[in-house]
Amino acid sequence: MDVPGLDGNDAALRDQGALVKTELAAGGLQVSIDHDRCSGTGYCQEGLPALFTVQDRRAWLREDFDLATADREDVEDAAGTCPWFAITVEER
Ligand code: SF4
Repeated sequence: MDVPGLDGNDAALRDQGALVKTELAAGGLQVSIDHDRCSGTGYCQEGLPALFTVQDRRAWLREDFDLATADREDVEDAAGTCPWFAITVEER
């Protein structure tokens, strides 16, 4: 999967077996990142690096993160650190 805007920096993540995307859904939960709001501050990555990664000044979701068994509070806490409200966590 090619992700627009990564400029090839996704290669390292792919080597780790991690594809990145802006939407991830599993276990009745959906996490989305709005790149029109994200400014690349990296707070989300600091909060939960297993899920969030910053590449090319934008946050991405690691596809190898097991959202289905993740602690929802951990995901919501990390999402809540975003100063620009760029991360949405919702039931689906
Ligand atoms: S905390 Fe928000 S603005 Fe900062 S990198 Fe994450 S999504 Fe982007």
